[in-house]
Amino acid sequence: MDPIGAPDARIRPRFVGPDTFARLPRLEDVERARVAVLGVPFDSGVTYRPGARFGPQAIRAGSKLLRAYHQAMDVSPWSVDQVADAGDLAPNPFDLMEAIELIERGAREALERADVVLALGGDHTIALPLLRAAHARHGPLALVHFDAHLDTWDTYFGAPYTHGTPFRRAFEEGLLAKDRCAHVGIRGPIFGKEDLAEDAGFGFDIVSTVDVAKAGVDAAIDRIRARVGDSPVYVSIDIDVLDPAHAPGTGTPEPGGLSSREAMLILRGMAELPLVGADVVEVAPPYDHAELTAMAAANLAYELLALFALAPH
Ligand code: MN
Ligand code: MN
Repeated sequence: MDPIGAPDARIRPRFVGPDTFARLPRLEDVERARVAVLGVPFDSGVTYRPGARFGPQAIRAGSKLLRAYHQAMDVSPWSVDQVADAGDLAPNPFDLMEAIELIERGAREALERADVVLALGGDHTIALPLLRAAHARHGPLALVHFDAHLDTWDTYFGAPYTHGTPFRRAFEEGLLAKDRCAHVGIRGPIFGKEDLAEDAGFGFDIVSTVDVAKAGVDAAIDRIRARVGDSPVYVSIDIDVLDPAHAPGTGTPEPGGLSSREAMLILRGMAELPLVGADVVEVAPPYDHAELTAMAAANLAYELLALFALAPH
């Protein structure tokens, strides 16, 4: 029952290992964990710029400055319940279907050792197998999806499993709770107006970036909480929900996005919801500058850990 938190950076320098998320213990070194942080280095589902396979290691590197106490939430995300790094899965980059199966299996195995999984992507394709694993445990899930993009398109180049289609597949597979889902941060050009009509048919509400800018963070939180109700909720964060000024290192950047601060405040407004799974995806370090994106992703992951700590369990 020994390992619980991360080393104190006043005693052990941050640039000294271990190279786990926030220097937390490895899952293999603890008996059991409340949260398993699981790397999913996979980007064979992207439609534009590749590179998110290097996301997990970059987010871990960007997590070194995180500290134990979350002052805004008055919670210590890894000091009470065990949080541990489960390492990386090894999905096949040449076989997307095999990779999706391996990710689902890997998430299910992690859920035998931990209550919940916080996945670090990887492109957004990985959300589908992660949702399957969470659904197997909790049934239909409310989904709060932070993204510039809907990700409910049908196919790309004739392929149904891509980073632009996971939530349509999730709807078709019955993984999502009816009318309990919301996109947050949607913006930018889409293929046509029918995209929005189809998306609404899958049970999504849209809190757009413009909604956040005009009505404010608190109104966005009210809409999200009303939408989720008391359903078990999964939070999926595509880092491109942030403006490229805050997160340039991603595959399909869209100007006019949320600031890191807005995203953090919205997440903090989700405290005490029954959060049962989460991911942070689409960090593509080859396009990053000064670790901006990796640090933003690590800090959003920290907000998710705070939400896990405050969720009923
Ligand atoms: Mn996106
Ligand atoms: Mn996405």
